[in-house]
Amino acid sequence: MTSTDPGPSTAGVVVVGGGQAGYSVVSALRGAGYEGPVTLCADEPHLPYQRPPLSKKAHTEPDTLRVELVPESFYRDRDIALRLGDGVASLDTTARSVTTHAGVRLGYDHLVLATGARNRPLPVPGASLAGVHALRSLDDALTIGRALTTALDVVVVGGGFIGLELALVAQGLGARVTVVELADRLLSRAVSPQVETHLRERHESSGVRILTGTAVRAIEGTDRVRQVVTDRGTLLADLVVYGIGAVPRDELARDAGLAVGDGVIVDERLRSVTDPRVSAVGDCARHPHPHADGPVRLESVQNAADQGTLVGRRIAGAPGPYESLPWFWSDQGDVKLQIAGLRTGTDEVRVMPGGSPERLAAYAFRDERLVAVETLNWPAEHLAARRLLERRTRIGAADLAGTTLGALARAQRATEVRT
Ligand SMILES: Cc1cc2nc3c(=O)[nH]c(=O)nc-3n(C[C@H](O)[C@H](O)[C@H](O)COP(=O)(O)OP(=O)(O)OC[C@H]3O[C@@H](n4cnc5c(N)ncnc54)[C@H](O)[C@@H]3O)c2cc1C
Repeated sequence: MTSTDPGPSTAGVVVVGGGQAGYSVVSALRGAGYEGPVTLCADEPHLPYQRPPLSKKAHTEPDTLRVELVPESFYRDRDIALRLGDGVASLDTTARSVTTHAGVRLGYDHLVLATGARNRPLPVPGASLAGVHALRSLDDALTIGRALTTALDVVVVGGGFIGLELALVAQGLGARVTVVELADRLLSRAVSPQVETHLRERHESSGVRILTGTAVRAIEGTDRVRQVVTDRGTLLADLVVYGIGAVPRDELARDAGLAVGDGVIVDERLRSVTDPRVSAVGDCARHPHPHADGPVRLESVQNAADQGTLVGRRIAGAPGPYESLPWFWSDQGDVKLQIAGLRTGTDEVRVMPGGSPERLAAYAFRDERLVAVETLNWPAEHLAARRLLERRTRIGAADLAGTTLGALARAQRATEVRT
């Protein structure tokens, strides 16, 4: 069997989910020479698109917004069948087939689940009133964008990346914005306290009001939202956007009897631990990771793109474990936050100012070894961190005394050139 041979049967590959991960699978399959049938099933009616702009420039630059990953001709030219607007309703791993909501049955040799995640619902009375929205899809973003043109008082429930990005966008468009966060600090699981302090100051100095340690009790209004009741008082609101976390869309796998547990459980090659003919990639997959201290489920473009690419190549004949270094970015107004590595289980953080007020790096150590780096407005240090962490270079706090990762990476390169 050559690397381009689809195998003894010709049912080919079916990918469920038309997001970043699903697109990356089909693109990598053809890029690696796979010649069997490839079908991408997406429940949204749009071509696969990127989500990051939906909380950033979708609302400030709507006229020039282009979110499609590639044009329709990309799929046509590569003989990739797109089934848009008809999601997969069920999976039969014994018959090796899926059935769509429209009743179309598709057989497969390999199935890839790239179903992403959905927003956790806001569990308070009034959450379904008009004017209360979650932000996940392009359609959500368009709805929120229209509401932002007239909104005066915006309440963002949840101080995560997406909510905070949107808060600054709304404030920039002239609304009074309050962020309500249940935890005692923003981004509590995602960034170090030192970076959180900087980001909080950035928001507050722009006029965004931040209430941490505050619980939303109810959303009130008659036809549409009028106010948000919290345990520390009532906030006027004509638009509420909530982002209180996402849950993986793993129900197809669960209903088919595959192992799930906050995501489809896969091995280091991203195959279901129950059925190696099924893989899962992106936000819906829980996988072992050499950069983590246990199985993880990551929600980032890097993870979705790299996992999709790995599985596409693997099915086309190029095996290998998933080892990519996790990295992430978020645009908080004019502050670019970038994170390399995973900070779970870290026990020490050292902060280095980057020579200007809004430029810094926070180096996080686990057992005296550098495992994650958060930077604000310092892309060169972020790239150096990626380079060094990818290579598993052992760096302790003492190695960073009076220097930067950029300088260490340059020294490492110079040594490589000499040897
Ligand atoms: C507003 C927003 C901003 C973000 N900003 C950033 C950022 O700045 N940086 C960053 O790294 N990450 C960011 N992310 C996260 C990043 O976009 C996601 O991690 C990434 O999109 C995950 O890709 P995915 O393909 O796994 O899932 P998704 O993009 O969620 O795509 C999954 C698709 O599968 C579809 N689907 C689900 N079930 C079925 C079914 N049964 N049949 C057919 N289709 C199905 C879903 O409708 C969806 O279209 C952001 C996310 C959002 C929502």
